[in-house]
Amino acid sequence: MTESIRIAISGGGLAGASLVHALLQYNHLDVHIFESANEFKEAGAAIGCDILIGADGIHSTVRKIIPGEDDAAANPRNTGWWCIMALKPYEEARACLGDEYVDVSDASEYGWVGDGTFLMHNVLSEGSLVQFVVTGSDDTNNMSNQWNRMVAAEEVRKLYAEWPPRLRNAVEKLLCDKAEQPAIYLWEHPPARTYVSGPICVTGDAAHATTPWQGSGAGMSIEDSLILSTLLGQAKTPTQACAGLKIYDQIRRGRTQQVVESSRGTGVVLTGKGEDTGLELEKLRKNTLPRWDFIVDFDAKKHREEAVEMMVKEVGP
Ligand SMILES: Cc1cc2nc3c(=O)[nH]c(=O)nc-3n(C[C@H](O)[C@H](O)[C@H](O)COP(=O)(O)OP(=O)(O)OC[C@H]3O[C@@H](n4cnc5c(N)ncnc54)[C@H](O)[C@@H]3O)c2cc1C
Repeated sequence: MTESIRIAISGGGLAGASLVHALLQYNHLDVHIFESANEFKEAGAAIGCDILIGADGIHSTVRKIIPGEDDAAANPRNTGWWCIMALKPYEEARACLGDEYVDVSDASEYGWVGDGTFLMHNVLSEGSLVQFVVTGSDDTNNMSNQWNRMVAAEEVRKLYAEWPPRLRNAVEKLLCDKAEQPAIYLWEHPPARTYVSGPICVTGDAAHATTPWQGSGAGMSIEDSLILSTLLGQAKTPTQACAGLKIYDQIRRGRTQQVVESSRGTGVVLTGKGEDTGLELEKLRKNTLPRWDFIVDFDAKKHREEAVEMMVKEVGP
């Protein structure tokens, strides 16, 4: 007989929201989502937690419960890369970079590789804005707890001084227009030995926060939600739901930790520090794009079928 299973999701970001959306199709799952930000609140009676899913982001509280606070992988780490993100009017960006690189009909993201630096830009908001991201890096020894810092225009100027004139001018005009600007550090999670402890698990950034070099954090959250919702949807009792969490861990941990690792490696390549690529254009061309193959050429349907097979083996059909 199928029992009602109560599920609490902590965090209503992309991981929590996509998961709750996927779980609502199962009538026997009594799902509650809790979000600490003001705009979105859980309303209703307090519930006891059969299953707790931590979708509470990179600062996850739930993650610390799973391996224990003293575990080296309980907390995220600063990779030392920082980035300034800026939105500029389309015409202004186009005047600086030229029609060939800023064109409303071109959805490409352009990335420019320097020696320890990286510049990315793409057109947003139906052509009204252009997003710029400039990157540099610091030695992590002295600032392991810092999440952001101010970067002076002079520092950006210095970092980009050797860049080709058109790009250097764009950086000067578009990104050195204030005396200093806020930058965020790029953090990631060290690989956890498990995402699950009994009836508790983590998903999304709470499980595998990654640097954004391969733009895969949100995609991984959605893949997690596909597998978690499938397994929990199959569970007929809270005990089976716990078995489902274990299978989620087995099937998702390897892939997600591979993406985190690959993303960091891609950051090394894109900031011109790759051992095999350095600043050589042909080598960068040849070696950069294939880094996305395992992320993109991924059969989510097969992944889901594997999870179902493992669940059937564990708890029966
Ligand atoms: C600079 C940058 C660029 C990025 N670019 C890309 C990209 O191009 N493509 C891509 O796929 N990904 C990208 N990402 C990553 C992506 O944004 C994240 O992977 C994704 O948003 C994670 O979603 P999440 O729901 O796991 O976490 P979050 O979005 O952080 O959501 C967690 C939620 O939990 C809530 N919360 C926290 N604590 C509690 C609590 N105790 N109780 C209740 N609620 C709580 C928070 O308020 C928050 O709403 C980027 C990230 C960064 C930093």
